Amino acid sequence: METTAHDHRRLGRELDLFDTDPLIGSGLPYWLPDGAAVRHAVEEYVREEERRAGYRHVASPVLGKRELYEISGHWAHFSEDMFPPMEVGGEQVVLRPSLCPHHALIYRSRGHSYRELPLRMAELGGMYRAELSGVLGGLTRVRAIQLNDAHIFCTLDQVADEAEAALAMIRRAYAALGLTVARYRLSLAGGGGKYAGAPEMWRRAEALLREVLDRAGVRYEAVEGEAAFYGPKIDVQVVDGAGREATLSTVQVDFHQPERFDLGYVGPDGARHRPVMVHRSIVGSVERAVAQLIEVHGGAFPAWLAPRQLVVLPVSDAELPAAERLARRAVDLGLRAEAHDPGRGSLGSRIRAARLVPYQAVVGAAEAATDAVALRLRDGRRLPPRPADEALHEITALVAAHSTELWPG
Ligand SMILES: [Zn+2]
Repeated sequence: METTAHDHRRLGRELDLFDTDPLIGSGLPYWLPDGAAVRHAVEEYVREEERRAGYRHVASPVLGKRELYEISGHWAHFSEDMFPPMEVGGEQVVLRPSLCPHHALIYRSRGHSYRELPLRMAELGGMYRAELSGVLGGLTRVRAIQLNDAHIFCTLDQVADEAEAALAMIRRAYAALGLTVARYRLSLAGGGGKYAGAPEMWRRAEALLREVLDRAGVRYEAVEGEAAFYGPKIDVQVVDGAGREATLSTVQVDFHQPERFDLGYVGPDGARHRPVMVHRSIVGSVERAVAQLIEVHGGAFPAWLAPRQLVVLPVSDAELPAAERLARRAVDLGLRAEAHDPGRGSLGSRIRAARLVPYQAVVGAAEAATDAVALRLRDGRRLPPRPADEALHEITALVAAHSTELWPG
């Protein structure tokens, strides 16, 4: 298997981010504390951005009855990628291959008026793909996926604005994560009868997505054969450390599942109408997003994503209590911070060991006596000693702003 300096599988092990165990199984990586910290930072960012953008979060189980996927069309069009059904109490249940059917049922469970639309429903939820053993590796091809997903139930007139707003969210997220869009792809149906729904619905959905891409002013390529089975989509493509292209984010227009689940809302005319479903994901699967982050940053994550944001390094044992108090204050401010005592080695070796940590605060006798710190930044910059409160405030502000800069100016 080819590897590069920034191969996320190698870095994942070296940096204690994630690993696998044959007893858990292939394609089922687990997250070590440092990796889980990165992953949770991504998830918290996404939830907060969604909250600000008017999404409401739901939570739904990772299992559903086989019948649910027969209705959604997954069983007919997607069952090769699904785990086989499990027999429980005379019923067949399956691990879900996507979140859409659960969200359609949650929408359908309550009556809706046009005044509630667009209704934006989001979930960071588990889903499962029966990937073949041969293609599994690291975090990019896994059998258990945590998906950043959302479904916007809206009128036809609202689709373009909602899809455009989703693209803007994707661009903001990439700026914060330090990711680059390689290209936008308009993924259309191909041959082979893999697709559900009437040709007229597909043409309408495609025209809407072209309008969104044109309004956003981005260049894109239309590619046949890459659509979801229920509709065309915009795929946001990234390139990994080895130059391979993958899809992270998507925006999709779906007329099919609202039909299959008989979704409705009451319009201003008092009659029942069919909503459209816009499926969108900002960072895609959390596994793939973190794999990309590891490769792009080589483990030197932006401060807001770093597993350890600040290490406090006492010059000698005499400053250890002051260093521990400083680390405690940083933790209380919400930072991931630790004091690394002289028992771990010389100051030089502790600095080298923490080379991926964005901020190192060196505390000597003078700093300990005056509640000051001399900050070293990961990029080699050394800042003059300053009051500890001021340094903590600055770091906290940069982290809260999801900045990719280590220091202002
Ligand atoms: Zn969906």
